[in-house]
Amino acid sequence: TGADSPPTIRQLDDRTVQQIAAGEVVERPASVVKELVENSLDAGADRISVSIRAGGTESIRVRDDGVGIPRDQLPEAVAEHATSKIGDVDDLAGGVATLGFRGEALHAIGAVSRLTVRSRPRGAEVGAGLTVEGGDAGEVTPVGCPEGTTVEVRDLFFNTPARKKFLATETTETDRVGTVVTQYALANPGVAVSLEVDDRERFATPGDGNLRSAVLSIYGREVAEGMIEVSFDATAADHDTPVDRVHGLVSEPEVNRATREYLATFVNDRYVTVSDLRNAVLSAYGGQLAPERYPFAVLFVELPTEAVDANVHPRKLEVRFDQPEAVQSAVEAAVSDALLEHGILRSSAPRG
Ligand code: ADP
Ligand code: MG
Repeated sequence: TGADSPPTIRQLDDRTVQQIAAGEVVERPASVVKELVENSLDAGADRISVSIRAGGTESIRVRDDGVGIPRDQLPEAVAEHATSKIGDVDDLAGGVATLGFRGEALHAIGAVSRLTVRSRPRGAEVGAGLTVEGGDAGEVTPVGCPEGTTVEVRDLFFNTPARKKFLATETTETDRVGTVVTQYALANPGVAVSLEVDDRERFATPGDGNLRSAVLSIYGREVAEGMIEVSFDATAADHDTPVDRVHGLVSEPEVNRATREYLATFVNDRYVTVSDLRNAVLSAYGGQLAPERYPFAVLFVELPTEAVDANVHPRKLEVRFDQPEAVQSAVEAAVSDALLEHGILRSSAPRG
């Protein structure tokens, strides 16, 4: 032992390799929910219901009415590096339209939980199901289920106690799941998204395509009614800016919270945490906000994909702009125009 005898180098067994790799995709219940909801969106679902128990550690269930998975494809769906979304790297070069493409989520989840996938493709007479327990896939069996796909994840990290120990309290893990489901519900007002926690409904959006009704379902009437519409179209106005469009809703300065959490920004429909964008929104209020208070905002920034590098952050919460200052000032101008129009800003805010 010690410095006298060097440690022996050994090849890790397959199971250990699989669990280490899985840990990189599946960090906590919220990351499972993110992957499953993205799969449902990629499947073209109009309705997605998320249900969790005990912070997601006992169970996570995501049900959708998307295209479904044909019976003979179920083993592929949970296999390593198997995806229906790209064929090769050339498909990546042109930009991927789907949220997923790595083909690793279901496989990784199955390695660290008891995973059941049940699916009935639209128009198919019966459904089929498959269970994976700690990486061991069972047989595909016929099951009765509605059209679409239901993925159930039970006993997350039952075979990786170190991971399980690392989780926060049930309340914190539940809140993280809530944040993720909220982000997708706001980004997709055309999809009816619901969240149930320990058998109690937290929210359910109508999926009518109206952002304000999604905000109403999630944040309540008091917040939703006072929200001001932001709508800036650079292509129409012939502005010289890298931004195509900025649209969404922001609150009156009086409707605020002590955390930035309710200031949600999206770049090309992806939720991002980019301080430049948040700061642009804050400075648009021109000192009308009390110190350390943050407005509610659901703001979509659209710009050509060439003008954004979406690969900065492995979980894609960050993006980098080609011209960050120009983006920032376009966003600030869009928000302050909306506030001005509602008589909230008296003098015009400085423009960049
Ligand atoms: P990826 O999303 O990167 O392709 P996943 O492991 O998340 O990888 O899913 C593997 C495959 O399983 C997907 O490519 C898709 O064909 C199928 N799949 C997963 N979830 C769903 C779903 N909810 N509806 C339809 N197909 C799904
Ligand atoms: Mg996926």
